Amino acid sequence: MAKMTFDVEYDLVVVGGGGSGKSAALTAAQAGLNVALLEKKAETGGSSIYAEGTCAYESSEQKERKVPPVTGELNQKHYPTREDGFRRYIDYSHHRANPEVVRMFVDNSAETIDIMKSLGVVYTDVTIYAYNQPLEVNSFHRPDGLDERVQELLLRACVNAGVDVFTSTPAKKILMSDGAVEGVQAVDSKGNTMNIGAKAVILASGGFGNSPEMVKKHSWQHRLADYNYQCVPTENTGDGLNMALEVGADTESLGALMVIPCARSKTLTAHSSGAGSQPVLWVNKTGRRFASEEVSMSFADSGNTMAKQPDGVVYSIFDADTVKHLIEEGSDIGLGDFIEYKQKLTRLQAELDQDVAEGIAWKGDTIEELAKNIGLDPAVFANTVAEYNDACDKGHDPQFYKSANYLRPVRKAPFYAVNMAPSILVSCGGIRVNGNLQVTDKEYKAIPGLYAVGMEASGLYGDTYNLDCPGTANGFAHTSGRVAARHAIKTIKGE
Ligand SMILES: Cc1cc2nc3c(=O)[nH]c(=O)nc-3n(C[C@H](O)[C@H](O)[C@H](O)COP(=O)(O)OP(=O)(O)OC[C@H]3O[C@@H](n4cnc5c(N)ncnc54)[C@H](O)[C@@H]3O)c2cc1C
Repeated sequence: MAKMTFDVEYDLVVVGGGGSGKSAALTAAQAGLNVALLEKKAETGGSSIYAEGTCAYESSEQKERKVPPVTGELNQKHYPTREDGFRRYIDYSHHRANPEVVRMFVDNSAETIDIMKSLGVVYTDVTIYAYNQPLEVNSFHRPDGLDERVQELLLRACVNAGVDVFTSTPAKKILMSDGAVEGVQAVDSKGNTMNIGAKAVILASGGFGNSPEMVKKHSWQHRLADYNYQCVPTENTGDGLNMALEVGADTESLGALMVIPCARSKTLTAHSSGAGSQPVLWVNKTGRRFASEEVSMSFADSGNTMAKQPDGVVYSIFDADTVKHLIEEGSDIGLGDFIEYKQKLTRLQAELDQDVAEGIAWKGDTIEELAKNIGLDPAVFANTVAEYNDACDKGHDPQFYKSANYLRPVRKAPFYAVNMAPSILVSCGGIRVNGNLQVTDKEYKAIPGLYAVGMEASGLYGDTYNLDCPGTANGFAHTSGRVAARHAIKTIKGE
C-alpha cells in the first residue's frame, strides 16, 4: 500500500499536554527522539493543574521522613510499601484491576518523585488527603505550589529538551497503515488539517469526564450526564478513547468516574461549598436523609452517594450554631487543600447571604419556612429534622450510624440549605492497555505503535475512583506517561 505523505514527521506524537502527556514527551525527547506534543486547549496542563498530591510507594521522600505525620487518631503508623499499594488496587477494585498495570505503577511511582525533584519540585509533606480518613494510606506527596507548579516545571523541561508543543491543536484521528500506527491527523490553531507522521502515538488526552454523551453511554453513573455540575473548566471529552476505538482498541472497566460534591454554581474553595460538604444533615428531594453524612470524609464516596440521589439533588442543612462553629472553630473534616481540616470558614456568612439573595441557597426562620423555600414537603422535612435532632441529643444515629462527634443538631434559627451537586472531575480510564501501556485489541494483542496513558488508560480501577491510596490519578498519570515513552523509545531505536 502506498505510504501517505505527511505535512510534518516526528518519531513520537503525544496527544494531550497534561501530566501524563508532558511526562511522556519529556522522557522521549531526553532520549533523543523527535517529539510533537499536541494540546487541544490554548494552554497545556489539563486537569493535572488542579491536583494537590501525587501517590508513590517507597519514595525517597517517604524514606527520608521515616514515620508519617500524625493526621488523626486513625493515623497509619507507616508509609505504604509497594506490596501495600499492589494489594489495595487489586482488592478495592474487586480484582477488576489489571495486575500488569498495577505492578507497573507501584514499581515505578517512586522514580516519578525523584524526577520531579530533579526538575525543581519541592515536596512539603507526604501524608493522607483528608484528616482522619480511616481508609487512607500515607501516599500523598504534596508539591510546593501544588501540581500547577509541577506542570509549569514540566512544560519548561519539555521545551528545553526540544519538544515541539502545539497548543490549540486537537488531534482528530489516528492514521494507520497495515495495522500499525503511522501518524495523527490534527487541526492546527488556524483551522488547517495537518497530517503528522509518527512511529508511535501516545494518547494522553485525559478521559471523557467532560462529555455528557460519553458519560451517558459508558458509565454506570450514566444519569450523572443530566445533572453533573462541572466545577472546573476542563475539556476532556474522550477524544483519545474514540480515536482508539476507531482503530480496533478494546476497553476495560470502562465508565468509572471521579466525582466530588460541590455547591451548585460555586467553586470547590467557596466556603458555602465547604459548609455543604460537611457531615451535617443531608436530605434529597424527598426531604429525607439517605446516608451517614460521615461519608463526606472521602470526597469520592460522597460524590458517588450524591450522584445516585433522584435528579442528583441534595440539600445540605445546618443552623445558626453550625454556621458559628464553622466560622469560629473551622471545618470538621479535611477536603484536601480546597478546605483544610479546622480551616475557619470566615467567608461563610457573607457567602450564604449572597447565595440566598441569588436564589442558589435557601434560608428560613423556621424549619417549615425553610422547607417551603426549598420546595420540600414541610411535614416530611420537619419529621426528618426532628428525628435527626433526637439522634443528636442521644449521641446515637439509629438510621445510618453516623459517629456522635458529627451529630450537630438543627435547632437554632436561622436555618440554611446549600444546594449540593455531584461534579465529575475526570473519568478513570477505559482503553485497555498492557503493562507497557500499549493499547490492546479485541484479541488482547498490542496495536503496534499505539499507547494510552493517564486517565485514558484502564488498569487501576473497578467501578470508581478510590481515595484509599490518595494521589493515585496524578501519580499514575506521570508514571504511565514515562513508562509508555520508554517502551516507544526502545521499539523505535530497535533496542
Ligand atoms: C479539581 C481536580 C483536583 C484533582 N486533584 C487530584 C489530586 O490531588 N491527586 C490526584 O492524584 N489526582 C487529582 N485529580 C485528578 C488528576 O488531576 C488527573 O486525573 C491526572 O493528573 C490527569 O492527568 P492526565 O494527563 O491523564 O490528564 P489531563 O491532565 O487532564 O490532561 C489531558 C490533556 O489532554 C488534552 N486533550 C484532550 N483531548 C485532546 C485532543 N483531542 N487533542 C489534544 N489534546 C487533547 C486536554 O485539554 C488536557 O490538557 C484532580 C482533578 C481535578 C479536576
